[in-house]
Amino acid sequence: MTFTAPFDNSYADLPAGFYTRQDPTPVRAPKRVAYNSALATLLRLPDASEPELTAIFSGQRVPLGADPLAQLYAGHQFGSYNPQLGDGRAVLLGETIGTDGIRRDIQLKGSGPTPYSRRGDGRAWLGPVLREYVISEAMHALGVPTTRALAATLTGEDIYRETALPGAVLARVAQSHLRVGTFQVFAHRGQNAELSQLTQYAIDRHDPGAKTPMDLLRAVCARQADLVAAWMSVGFIHGVMNTDNCTISGETIDYGPCAFIDDYHEDTVFSSIDRTGRYAYSNQRHVIVWNMAQFATALLQQLDDPAAGVEEATAIIDAMPGQIDAAWLARFGAKVGLTSPGPDDATLIQDLLTLMQNDGADFTNTFDALARGDARDQFVNRARFDRWSIRWQDRLCDEPAPQNTMQAASPRVIPRNHRIEDMIAAAVAGDFAPFDRLMTALADPYGTDDLDLMHPPTKAQRVPATFCGT
Ligand code: AMP
Ligand code: MG
Repeated sequence: MTFTAPFDNSYADLPAGFYTRQDPTPVRAPKRVAYNSALATLLRLPDASEPELTAIFSGQRVPLGADPLAQLYAGHQFGSYNPQLGDGRAVLLGETIGTDGIRRDIQLKGSGPTPYSRRGDGRAWLGPVLREYVISEAMHALGVPTTRALAATLTGEDIYRETALPGAVLARVAQSHLRVGTFQVFAHRGQNAELSQLTQYAIDRHDPGAKTPMDLLRAVCARQADLVAAWMSVGFIHGVMNTDNCTISGETIDYGPCAFIDDYHEDTVFSSIDRTGRYAYSNQRHVIVWNMAQFATALLQQLDDPAAGVEEATAIIDAMPGQIDAAWLARFGAKVGLTSPGPDDATLIQDLLTLMQNDGADFTNTFDALARGDARDQFVNRARFDRWSIRWQDRLCDEPAPQNTMQAASPRVIPRNHRIEDMIAAAVAGDFAPFDRLMTALADPYGTDDLDLMHPPTKAQRVPATFCGT
């Protein structure tokens, strides 16, 4: 049987300067590691034999209707503008319109060199592929907007980082791969016609109600404000919030050195390359505003009179901290049982976070324990917690079912770093049981009974730093 997916490619209809047509590089001996059949159904992909699907999602065979291409983009990396990035180890196979009516990209990551590879080999090894597979699907189950994982495939080839490692390809799905950096590349080159065309494309795809570039800016800012609040509410640190890793769709993208907080501290940084803490946990709310200011700057350039748009753009950017605060308050309010928290409640929540920080309390387990009525044990200084708890109980009086509110807002199990590292080590040795176990538990993070996965790392298990590792 031949695999015939209902591809409906729109990016490939944009002018040639937006991308380079590029087939994935065939690999030696592809072998399936994981396949997300529920997502495949959502994408309207047909059933096909395992060898056929493996050939397609490893880049071995280009399916009928695909039109593979590498996208061009640029971006600010740690604050410095890099004029040329682009898909250096990925190709967009094509798009389908899902059973929910939503258009999505299917991209292969680790699929070989492209004209944008610079000095890279275009490949990925199994570690980062499984990391992204597990964490992106966990984020989806947590209710956080994110790219999804469709398939992970071993290539049967070694790739070389510091040592030889098993090569792998991730098939990734996104509502689009448009990034702030996709706009920046044309704005910085002064290609205003292309910039306008891209803006219209983004509006058609993500915000059909938008009439102007500033309407698009407003919509993207709203999505990104919600996204960052969602990250913070589950203790997620993206780790590389460069403008090329910042989507127009409002989905989390590029799971490199990302990590979830164990013991709470607002300055937590895991990424080994984030030396100044630019992308630390609590800085994310500031950096996203900076990123959106870069987006605004790029968008403005297409206006006949860019200066005339500055006022509107500034107002949109200036509104963002307030939007983030509101989204943060709604999410953290729910985590302490409040269905409609007011401004005073921000202090109550912040005071709890301060207690947690002082005592090195585990972020996930403290909120879980709060929801189950036994949070006291999470604290060293119990007298302080008790004093906070009296204020809290007082405030909860009017809430009909705070327990339910809290349990729906605070997961029991998250992909903890030490579990991810153990899972990768086992997979490299050929044992995929830890991967399967994580996938099962993380599919139901609020209700799973695999409570052994709740344990924070011991001193010896702690993962002090995470790496891009691509
Ligand atoms: P990232 O920080 O992972 O989003 O990647 C930043 C840029 O480096 C993007 O343009 C990637 O395509 C490129 N890149 C990362 N890893 C590789 C690789 N192994 N080969 C080629 N390009 C890469
Ligand atoms: Mg990236």
